[in-house]
Amino acid sequence: MTEDKKTNAQSFTFKAETKQLLNILIHSLYKDKEVFLRELLSNASDALNRVHFEMLTNQNVLDADVELNIRITADKDERMLTIQDTGIGMTKDEIIENLGTIAQSGARNFIEATKESGEENLAQVIGQFGVGFYSVFMAAEWVRVTSRSYKPRAKAVSWYATGEDDFEISPAEMNERGTKIEIKLKKDAEEFAEDYRLNTVIKKHSDYIGFPIYVGDSEEQANAQSSLWRTARNEITDEQYNDFYRQMTMEFEEPLHRIHSVMDAPVQLFALLYIPASGERGVFSARKEDGLKLYSRNILIDEYTKDLLPEYLRFVQGVVDSEDLPLNVSRETVQSSGLMPRLQKIVTGQVMRELEKLAKKDVEKYNLFWEAFGVFLKQGIASDPMTTEKVQPLLRFKTNKNPEEWSSLDDYVERMQDEQKEIYYIVGDDPKSVLLSPHLDYFQSQDTEVLLLTDPMDSFMLMGLNQYKEHELKSVAQADIEPEEDEQKESDEEKIPDDEFATLLELFKETLGERVEDVRTSNRLSQSVARLVVADDNFNPELQRVYRYLGKDYEDPKKTLELNPSHPILKSLIAESVEADLQKEIIEQIYDNTLLVEGLHPDPSSMASRIQKLMEMVLEK
Ligand code: ADP
Ligand code: MG
Repeated sequence: MTEDKKTNAQSFTFKAETKQLLNILIHSLYKDKEVFLRELLSNASDALNRVHFEMLTNQNVLDADVELNIRITADKDERMLTIQDTGIGMTKDEIIENLGTIAQSGARNFIEATKESGEENLAQVIGQFGVGFYSVFMAAEWVRVTSRSYKPRAKAVSWYATGEDDFEISPAEMNERGTKIEIKLKKDAEEFAEDYRLNTVIKKHSDYIGFPIYVGDSEEQANAQSSLWRTARNEITDEQYNDFYRQMTMEFEEPLHRIHSVMDAPVQLFALLYIPASGERGVFSARKEDGLKLYSRNILIDEYTKDLLPEYLRFVQGVVDSEDLPLNVSRETVQSSGLMPRLQKIVTGQVMRELEKLAKKDVEKYNLFWEAFGVFLKQGIASDPMTTEKVQPLLRFKTNKNPEEWSSLDDYVERMQDEQKEIYYIVGDDPKSVLLSPHLDYFQSQDTEVLLLTDPMDSFMLMGLNQYKEHELKSVAQADIEPEEDEQKESDEEKIPDDEFATLLELFKETLGERVEDVRTSNRLSQSVARLVVADDNFNPELQRVYRYLGKDYEDPKKTLELNPSHPILKSLIAESVEADLQKEIIEQIYDNTLLVEGLHPDPSSMASRIQKLMEMVLEK
């Protein structure tokens, strides 16, 4: 810092990141220059919002009765543009801090982002990095900011910079509250000294700023002064909707869907909600937390309101504005006013209804939604079974019969076989291998549809989902699903004779010893040689899986190995010509295979040596 005795001006140096940012703004960003005006107006609007809030809670505000507004004046001959607001203003310390030293992380992020997305496209979203003010240097030769804080005893101060390394701070003359920004326009930005040009930019980018903006001497407002969410739907273009979303979230992708609703009773409410395109926030997302923006009469009460939507809808972005919120009180009082649960009920209902509507109207889009956010809904069921009924209609599944498509539970029920009462599912590790599971054998042979649950969240979801309408959900791995009589007869013909099979069972028991609870015959298998089941009715395989995902210590209960008495491998295995050695190795391999398909094999690579041995034995013949 240096000091000039005559003018009392102090000189400060910008931080390295800010210098770099200024350099990019001045030398690389030629497109979208007009964005600077939006940024300055957005700052003015913030400042007005803040003083408004102050006036509601604090008696001691300078110029408490002047109109909250923004005035823009231009002088074409001088290439001068002035933007003045009656907002909260800044003290000397604040102006040094706000326009000189803070937001370096924002500058750094912006610089990083230019490397990834290219400099050209970034002007549009500079505001979201918390460095919007500096965009003025896309258009300015120099800038002077003169400000007077709302605090009655604060003195006016001015900040001056050319976008070089330094800025200057000096005492200033200013009697009214607020901030005045004087800009000497660069030659190639002189268009911004034309009123008509200013009016177009305001219409385009700043129309819904909540305070009047006047251009020149005009007494007529240049902006409609209605927030987007308070504007009639038919007056808003898709572009405006998407623009608003992008400004708010700084996601580059367009939102997947939007919900814009206005309501007068039982509460007065505006909501503009978006479903993002992806379940993950973008790298540069401006939304650091979940939650909706809560406004009351256009004034921001809370940036991240988490209790307007249940956990399982926390991916929804947007704004809720209600006139029924008590304004002249703190955020904490808003929380306890009793209005929040009512708002939550309404907003949640709107979102859920809209999703159901989307599922009917636009299946393709709904499937995109499901793929991005289904996991949130499943989690909702897992963590709060009270939500199950509400969420059920939104669930989608792949099935053995429709493995490429998403089916709803209603679709499933509609396709159920005549006698079928239960909804069957199988839990597995991935959609391909689950189709090979021996547990599916019987159902495949019966042409019965089975839900394929292969997402880790599915096991958690099953803790809260055991019934849909009057149909129970049942795992195909449960041992007690008995095939029908005639089914058994049909396969009887190819069966290994009972006495031979008994010998085989003994051989398996001997070889596997303590590792299995029992070895027995199964009439449920057709394609597979064997499968593992837990005979205990109280055993819950899903819970087991949940424990495994959570990395909890648990004992896997001993399993029973069931053999397919009609399988050719077993028939050959018992032939006299097979040596005892080979028999043992094959039994071991059959057991390992069953572990593998259950996803229970502790060390699959250990099988390699046995398989090699088996190959050798076979080839030696
Ligand atoms: P952001 O608006 O994201 O905070 P900016 O770079 O646009 O970042 O502005 C930096 C800060 O400068 C603002 O947070 C605010 O504190 C201050 N500021 C800018 N313009 C004004 C204004 N017209 N009135 C009062 N404070 C302002
Ligand atoms: Mg800003």
